[in-house]
Amino acid sequence: MSETPINTQLLIAGQWQDAADGRTLPILDPSNGELIGKVAHASVADLDKTVAGAAAGYDAWRNLTAWDRYTIMRRAAELLRERADAIGRIMSREQGKPLAQAVIEINAAAGVIEYFGEEGRRLNDELVPARAPFVEQRVLHRPIGVVAAFTPWNFPINQIARKLGAALGAGCGVIVKAPEDTPASPAELIRCFCDAGIPAGAVSLVYGTPAEISEYLIAHPVVRKISFTGSTPVGKHLAALAGAQMKPVTMELGGHGPVIVCRDADLDQAAERVAAAKFRNAGQVCIAPTRFLLHKDIASAFIEKFKAQMSALKIGCGLDEGVTMGPLINERRVKALTELVEDARAKGAELWQPDTALPNKGFFFPPTLVLKPTLDMRVMQEEPFGPIAIMDEFSELADAVKEANRLPYGLAAYVYTRCERTERLLGEKLEAGMVAINHHGIGTPEVPFGGIKDSGYGTEGGPAALRAHTIIKLVSSLHE
Ligand code: NAD
Repeated sequence: MSETPINTQLLIAGQWQDAADGRTLPILDPSNGELIGKVAHASVADLDKTVAGAAAGYDAWRNLTAWDRYTIMRRAAELLRERADAIGRIMSREQGKPLAQAVIEINAAAGVIEYFGEEGRRLNDELVPARAPFVEQRVLHRPIGVVAAFTPWNFPINQIARKLGAALGAGCGVIVKAPEDTPASPAELIRCFCDAGIPAGAVSLVYGTPAEISEYLIAHPVVRKISFTGSTPVGKHLAALAGAQMKPVTMELGGHGPVIVCRDADLDQAAERVAAAKFRNAGQVCIAPTRFLLHKDIASAFIEKFKAQMSALKIGCGLDEGVTMGPLINERRVKALTELVEDARAKGAELWQPDTALPNKGFFFPPTLVLKPTLDMRVMQEEPFGPIAIMDEFSELADAVKEANRLPYGLAAYVYTRCERTERLLGEKLEAGMVAINHHGIGTPEVPFGGIKDSGYGTEGGPAALRAHTIIKLVSSLHE
């Protein structure tokens, strides 16, 4: 399969097709920079057809029973699991992550779809007792309409599964604008829904110029909700466009994850778990740990253990046996990280990288420690979104909390401690949408997933994610 050229088409009104004007974008293998295929680039004519198809598809989907919608979603999840290895190879090839990580992502996505299918069956209406006799007050929860979902390249399938799952579970139609860097694995996800029997147009898939598509879809009257995952600047721009149209949004944006390692932490366990979370997907993870705040008494011991974890990484093409860290997604990201590290070096940081040879082609970036950071360094303000870990020290816990909360970001924060009092205190004090203590498993479908402050608003997990795709309506009847 890895030899087959990729040719990703648009899904419009239930039909896979090339762009009307035949335009395409190239797809590169990030592990060697070579061209591996192409993806259709939608024009306005394609978007016109997509929206018309989505309106009809939404109508068909919302008129199914919740049970029938669940049955189709469950079947799509089953197909995704059956195809996980094959789709994983496509994802690894276009995105660069190790095959094992791709397969884990795909199976997790199947779980998300299943969860939201089930949760859709529990979208109960309510009867509210009235103040006047013979009045019946019904509160209805109904799908909001067609959702435009914009997703990034770091988790090509799981980012879509969260948006698609919550929207479809609530009975909405969805137009997915998937990432142009990694288009083929998302198309395989959507194919599972087609093969499971979803009505034509209930899900559409487009690629093209992100700004053109978002401007078109956000302004279109058929589209009633916007959901975006990506960087904070783009999120703010899209939220403003949606605000001008009075359309609700869910925004899952950047982070700069603090990790507080207390004096009483189990250091072996902490180093192993944080390193796994840091270098997963080459650090291109919105909830990745980034700023390490280490109690001064254990800082050097922790850093030595963490360095050992970094030295054990096997870096290479994600499809090669035993590889644990792949390349970055594209050359632009390599340049961005190089600039961040150079800025830190110029401002006095000490840098450390393991003595591991990188492949001599492709978009690789070495795992890097930034030691002795100062606040004037860009990396202390900007999300690196790559395999960079910054090591800082603290004496008083209150100072660590202050530093953790210093940035406008508030996505994920981590703590390693064996003290229950510290756990509870930091669980309250850290300004983050998600706080994980002594582990990193915060992405399961049933729990909230989202940020506060500049990391966005709304959640992509749990019942609230489904409710965010509904309107609430009162029907009040007087029966005399
Ligand atoms: P970027 O800001 O150019 O793009 C981020 C994502 O937004 C991409 O998927 C892109 O297609 C999309 N996008 C950009 N402009 C858009 C527009 N006008 N309308 C609709 N979609 C638009 O950044 P990039 O170089 O691709 O990625 C780097 C940065 O993006 C990272 O530093 C990180 O902050 C952020 N990012 C975050 C996540 C996440 O999971 N939260 C995922 C990927 C990227």
